Amino acid sequence: MTRRLVLLAAALLTAFAASRALDAQSGAVTLRAPLVLDGRGGSRTDTMVTVNNGKITVLGAASGTPTYDLAGLTLLPGFIDTHVHIGWHFDTNNRFASGQEPADQAALYGAENAWVTLQAGFTTIQSVGAASDKALRDAINRGVLPGPRLLSSLGSIANPKMTVEEIRAAVRMFKADGADLVKIFASASIRDGGVPTLSQDQVDAACGESKAQGLRSMVHAHSPESMMRAARANCTVVEHGGLANAEALALLAEKGVWFDPNIGLVTQNYLENKAKFLGIGNYTEEGFASMEKALGLKDAMFSAALKTKNLKMTMGTDAVAGAHGQNMREVVERVKSGQAPMDAIRSLTSISAESMNLQMELGAIYPGLQADLVAVEGNPLTDITALQRVRFVMRGGKVYRNDRR
Ligand SMILES: [Zn+2]
Repeated sequence: MTRRLVLLAAALLTAFAASRALDAQSGAVTLRAPLVLDGRGGSRTDTMVTVNNGKITVLGAASGTPTYDLAGLTLLPGFIDTHVHIGWHFDTNNRFASGQEPADQAALYGAENAWVTLQAGFTTIQSVGAASDKALRDAINRGVLPGPRLLSSLGSIANPKMTVEEIRAAVRMFKADGADLVKIFASASIRDGGVPTLSQDQVDAACGESKAQGLRSMVHAHSPESMMRAARANCTVVEHGGLANAEALALLAEKGVWFDPNIGLVTQNYLENKAKFLGIGNYTEEGFASMEKALGLKDAMFSAALKTKNLKMTMGTDAVAGAHGQNMREVVERVKSGQAPMDAIRSLTSISAESMNLQMELGAIYPGLQADLVAVEGNPLTDITALQRVRFVMRGGKVYRNDRR
């Protein structure tokens, strides 16, 4: 070896040692996985991900001993569910808790739901939403109570009797209260036929004022006409679309409005837990019959959505009481109904992040983004149910699950 090479090698070793020392000092951790799906459609084999101060800093070829050896697992960005009701739960009589309950009791059920959702690999969720979400969101944000990053609408706009001015005032109130988005009911529940409930003027006011306040707007709409009112009003996202037709889906695509078809969890969960809901509000025998009928239409609706050119689809489940932690059933059903596994995974991660304007923060395994990382057993590209076999969960650089310890 020439003197110059020796010096170079020595310099490199010093630099390497210095960087290791720096890593140790700042608490850098490394994760090694045989397969990494980056959430944006890319995949890499035998990869090392370096995490520093809660963020992904390096993505490179595996070398050396990692802090976490995820042999046999597939590493993905933390999962995102854009539509849950994090506080919904069954009570001690095993019935849906729909009425008033003590605030402390409600808070604890919310914390339980947040925990099981995080354990299922969901590191970001959007609850749409109740006032009680705020205390839970802020508690999780304090960094002690474990749970997914939580966004919430803190309530919703649903009353068809509201004037346009009252709707605008309600949006401003949610903004002042700290809501992350505005939830709007523009159609009846599927249990009541899904017909439009808000006029075009009312939807225009709700979504227009949301935009003026810098908030995203999420519209519950089942019938084609209610979906199209949301599209014409340039709302951010339309949920459900249980009775969608090709015309409504095409208008969403044309207007660049996101669509979130909930085909895999919410209705199934209602039917599985019928006895716990029956007799409360519109959870009647008739309502359940409507849901059963709607369930039969969902796969065809989703196929039509997949065929709609330029339609952007987010991943939301509408998880209610009984469904928390089972969020991944939605993705499994979407793939079963014809979506390509890689597209379903993008929807679950980077696309949902983009729909919430968080693509610069999360939703992908990429340097600079939050270290929200989940490892599952198996390869979800060949067996989508692998996503239900979560073995490792990291959120913001902190490990919340590690079955390999
Ligand atoms: Zn919902």
